[in-house]
Amino acid sequence: MSSEHAGQDLDRLRERLLAVRDRVGSAARRAGRDASGITTIVVTKFHPASLVRDLATLGVSDIGENRHQEAQAKARELADLDLTWHFIGQLQSKKARQVRAYARAIHSVDRPALVDALRSDETSVDAFVQVNLTDDPGRGGVAEAELPALVEHVLATPGLRLRGLMAVAPLEQPAGPAFARVRELSETVVRPREPTATDLSMGMSHDLEDAVAEGATHLRIGTAITGNRPVAG
Ligand SMILES: *Cc1c(COP(=O)(O)O)cnc(C)c1O
Repeated sequence: MSSEHAGQDLDRLRERLLAVRDRVGSAARRAGRDASGITTIVVTKFHPASLVRDLATLGVSDIGENRHQEAQAKARELADLDLTWHFIGQLQSKKARQVRAYARAIHSVDRPALVDALRSDETSVDAFVQVNLTDDPGRGGVAEAELPALVEHVLATPGLRLRGLMAVAPLEQPAGPAFARVRELSETVVRPREPTATDLSMGMSHDLEDAVAEGATHLRIGTAITGNRPVAG
């Protein structure tokens, strides 16, 4: 790749990053919120480590990945950078220990076996309990009925610091009411059990405005910043 080409890529990346910052800023103003309370995690799945390096050049420090092997390889390759890695994908229990080694936060805690696998008496990792807002168990996340027990399980497990809830809005439904439901679950299920676990990880490229309006503290933004993802190979 010529340096001229790389420079154009970096310019486009900067433009998209600024456009998303504008969207977040406008949504925060409309909601009467301070945008500094909202962390934008840039989701770089399927993109090469070089893109993450470019993002770091532009001042991005929070990176989201959803597949362990890919995330681990990038975290190793970019160990010279001061990045915060967020694991946002479905996680097999047998990979849990390895993910703990590089991730500051795991947004996809969704079942008791995974909580047990993440237990540690030595180090602490931030945990978001993922709620499934659909009837399809394949979409990841704990069913609402099982949320209270799972929250209590996380709170009783050494090495996990509960931060709050995570959710993905269901397909083909308005995102606003879905995110409002997550906020309600935070208020009725999570905060009574742990008053500090107030965070809400919700909002992606196409629905970040709805998420900010409903109190999101962590947005997980991929394509609006990175451009289209390369096809998995
Ligand atoms: C890929 C992904 C995102 C980002 O999605 P975009 O639509 O590209 O912004 C957010 N959250 C999760 C869990 C993802 O897997």
